Amino acid sequence: MAEAGAGGAAIEAVVCDFGGVLTTPLMGSFLALQDAHGVSVEDFGEAMRAAAEEGGEIPLFKLERGEITEPEFLEILRDKLEPLLGHRPELHRFREAFFEALDPNEPMIELMRECRRGGRRMAMLTNNVQEWEPLWRTMLPVDEIFELVIDSGWVGYRKPEKQIYEITVERLGVPATACLFVDDLEVNCEAARDLGFTAVQYRNPEQAVAEVRKILE
Ligand SMILES: [Mg+2]
Repeated sequence: MAEAGAGGAAIEAVVCDFGGVLTTPLMGSFLALQDAHGVSVEDFGEAMRAAAEEGGEIPLFKLERGEITEPEFLEILRDKLEPLLGHRPELHRFREAFFEALDPNEPMIELMRECRRGGRRMAMLTNNVQEWEPLWRTMLPVDEIFELVIDSGWVGYRKPEKQIYEITVERLGVPATACLFVDDLEVNCEAARDLGFTAVQYRNPEQAVAEVRKILE
C-alpha cells in the first residue's frame, strides 16, 4: 500500500528493485531450476533450511552479500541436497536456468523511463549476486534509466537491512523522505518506510504503474 511521503516532501528520486519488478515473476525461475536439475522447489527450500541450521542463515543471503562466491553457494546446496535426493546433483546450469526463465517487465521499465524523463533522480536497489551481473544487465538498458545501481553483492548488505537503504540515499544525496521505493516484497517496503521512504509494493503492472503515477503527479 502506498503512503504519503513523510512531511509531504516532494519526491525527488525513484529507487526501484530489479527481480520481480523490472522482470517477470521469479517463481518462473524457481520452476526452471526444478526442470534443469531435477530438484524440486521444496527440496531446494529444505536444503537452504538445513544449511541455515549450521550457518545461522540461508546461504542465499550470504551469496547476496558477496560473503560467499557462487561456486561456494552451489557446493553448500549440493551438500545439503545429497542426503535428500540420494545422489549429488550437478547444479551446473543454475544461473543460466534462472535467467532464461525471466523476461523484462516492459510496462515497469517504461514507467522508470517516464520517471527519468520527468526529471527524477533514478537508482536501482537490488539484492543480487556478483557473478550474475553480466546476465541481469542484458535484460534492460540499465545505464540509460538509472544513474546509480546499488547491488547487495557489491555493497555487502541486503534488503531489508537498513544499511543498504542508507547507502542508497547517501549516494543519491537525497533524503529518504524525498525517495519513492518500489519493490515486490512487503518486508523490503516496510524497511524502507521505517527509514522515511514512500514505498509502493509491486503486485502487477497495472496496480504499480497507477500507484507510482499517483504519487508523482
Ligand atoms: Mg524483488
